Amino acid sequence: MINFGYLGKHFLEKIAEAVGQEFRYPVHLKESHLDLSEFFDPGRRQYNGNKILHTLNASPGPMALKTIGLFSVDLFIPILTYIFGQAMLNGQTGIASLFRLSNERYGIEADEKLLLERFTKEVIHELGHTFGLLHCMTPTCVMRSSTYVEDIDQKNQKLCHHCRVKLASVIPDQVVR
Ligand SMILES: [Zn+2]
Ligand SMILES: [Zn+2]
Repeated sequence: MINFGYLGKHFLEKIAEAVGQEFRYPVHLKESHLDLSEFFDPGRRQYNGNKILHTLNASPGPMALKTIGLFSVDLFIPILTYIFGQAMLNGQTGIASLFRLSNERYGIEADEKLLLERFTKEVIHELGHTFGLLHCMTPTCVMRSSTYVEDIDQKNQKLCHHCRVKLASVIPDQVVR
């Protein structure tokens, strides 16, 4: 997990712990900086997620199986108003942003615990895509697609049994439960 979003250490450690539990891989945290101005779309006043994802994917990253870049800016892709994150299906790289996940964004009182839960789900979801998992129809599965934060709140931060079996088929030493 590479922190491009100036996110707090304690916050990141909590996410790393949850990600490690879900995928059963060691998770390393890395601090980094990326000049985001070249990804800024002045017309939309947002940052182009496709370009950021491809840039991260092309840069020689840490020696990691999967890499996810964590951001705190408003991401979009041309076909959508905004995205919480995205990833290379079966690839190495994903991105996720906190920007649209906070209650304050919607004029509701801040809730740090809820924010952590939402971001954790988003990170696990995008990493799931890098392991080849597609969107899942199980309502509580972390791989269910989310358009609004309310959708994220409906799901768990875990893979459903079906997705876990699929994950096990690409990671041979996964224990299926
Ligand atoms: Zn998805
Ligand atoms: Zn599922």
